[in-house]
Amino acid sequence: MSARSVEHVIKGERRSTDGPAIEITDPATGEVIAVASTADAAVLEETVAAATRAYESWSQMSLSKRSAVLFSFRHLVATRRDELARLISAEHGKTFDDAQGEITRGLENIDYACGIGHHLQGSYADQVSTGVDVYSYREALGVVAGITPFNFPVMVPLWMAPIAIAAGNSFILKPSERDPSASLLLADLWAEAGLPAGVFSVLHGGADLVNAILDHPDIAAVSFVGSTPIAKHVYQRASANGKRVQALGGAKNHAVIMPDADITEAADHLVAAGFGSAGQRCMAISAVVAVGTPEETSPLVKAIAERGREVVVGPSTDPRSEMGPVITPQAAERIRSIVATAESEGAQIVLDGRDLTVPGYEGGNFVGPTLVDNVPVTSTAYTEEIFGPVLVVIHAADLDEALEIVNANPYGNGAAIFTSSGGAARRFQRGVQAGMVGVNVPIPVPAGSFSFGGRKDSLFGDTHIYGREGLNFYTRAKAVTSRWPSSAARPAASLAFPSE
Ligand code: NAD
Repeated sequence: MSARSVEHVIKGERRSTDGPAIEITDPATGEVIAVASTADAAVLEETVAAATRAYESWSQMSLSKRSAVLFSFRHLVATRRDELARLISAEHGKTFDDAQGEITRGLENIDYACGIGHHLQGSYADQVSTGVDVYSYREALGVVAGITPFNFPVMVPLWMAPIAIAAGNSFILKPSERDPSASLLLADLWAEAGLPAGVFSVLHGGADLVNAILDHPDIAAVSFVGSTPIAKHVYQRASANGKRVQALGGAKNHAVIMPDADITEAADHLVAAGFGSAGQRCMAISAVVAVGTPEETSPLVKAIAERGREVVVGPSTDPRSEMGPVITPQAAERIRSIVATAESEGAQIVLDGRDLTVPGYEGGNFVGPTLVDNVPVTSTAYTEEIFGPVLVVIHAADLDEALEIVNANPYGNGAAIFTSSGGAARRFQRGVQAGMVGVNVPIPVPAGSFSFGGRKDSLFGDTHIYGREGLNFYTRAKAVTSRWPSSAARPAASLAFPSE
């Protein structure tokens, strides 16, 4: 089978360019299934120029016309979701159901953007001084860019583009080079929804293109989602260039399991949250803090291992698969090596997925569910994001110690507690240093009408992504102080600062 060609979308047209090609492989087989063009600085220049022209008319289009495009886009994404999900699964490797799940979450972000007429309502104060009124509202920034990771090729672009575009900006997407095809279908759907050419563009490439985006003087803001070292780089370089930046990084999400939790239910949630999508979610639970005595915590470890052993690992094309491969052979090798190091440091491998092979898919990057108990907090398995189907267990005597452990970790994306005590849940919620907290909910991704973001090494910048904070990120305020000559009782101009 010959590899598909993955093109850019520039000025509303699909186009290949001559830059070095990027091969996209099926993680379940290792076969090259597509080849993407890469854009250089000249192609970026052309795209930004077209996006700037498109912004000038799009930002002047009425809110009702803009929201009509958003409603239509929402309908098209919902109607074509199976096609989108198949593209995600083919290049990412996640199961079809899981791919559907990310589209559902992305639709919430389009829902929010459909209400742009409401969200952009400003404020007004009558008669702040005699005959003087003040009103404020928000304006679009211009051309903005989104740089996205491989693990959610539809949801993360939808965290950004719908609200940026609804607010009146043009948006340039630089998707992950590992699974870029879904972004082209999104571009088709935007066009079909009536979005003018040039308002949504897609450019493929790696570090060089990202750096060209960060340096481009006509790009006003950059949203980034990816690993922590790159998030930090993006934040520093783009903000040094005077851009607005939100850069969401990696994570080590903890679940604290109290002795009074329902162990069967907690174990079930931990298996789903730790091994779903092969652990390649920024909100995956990757560290379990088991609270209590060895007698209290061993049933939990046993229950996770039992349920984890039952997980069906296989390609996304097999409907029985509950979990797919990891993204690259290098990722699989790194995961195996981190687990081996933890073992040599004294941790116990309770469930070992390192040697898993899936019959018929020997070329795939499969790693089975892996559970490692008593991991030292100094081990790489605990200090680094593994981004694979590995749950590490550490032990704490009580909630205070559990909180100390969670808060000492450099990441602060999500954190969850499983308990039947409202008091413990409240203490955890108030004391934990994480941007998103779950109470008996393992993956507390806020609904689309809220905003998403972590703390510490999980977020560089001030604003969370999507929802109200997303809208604020893609707009800036203008406050107008106005007086009209026909106003009654017009006072004579005074050189003193107005005091009444
Ligand atoms: P990544 O950092 O390797 O890549 C993300 C983007 O950065 C891609 O578009 C890539 O092309 C670009 N990039 C890669 N190397 C670069 C470099 N040296 N200079 C400039 N740009 C570069 O991340 P990934 O492997 O695609 O995605 C997984 C990571 O993303 C994990 O760490 C995960 O936790 C994180 N993530 C975080 C969130 C969140 O909300 N905090 C959400 C999803 C994923």
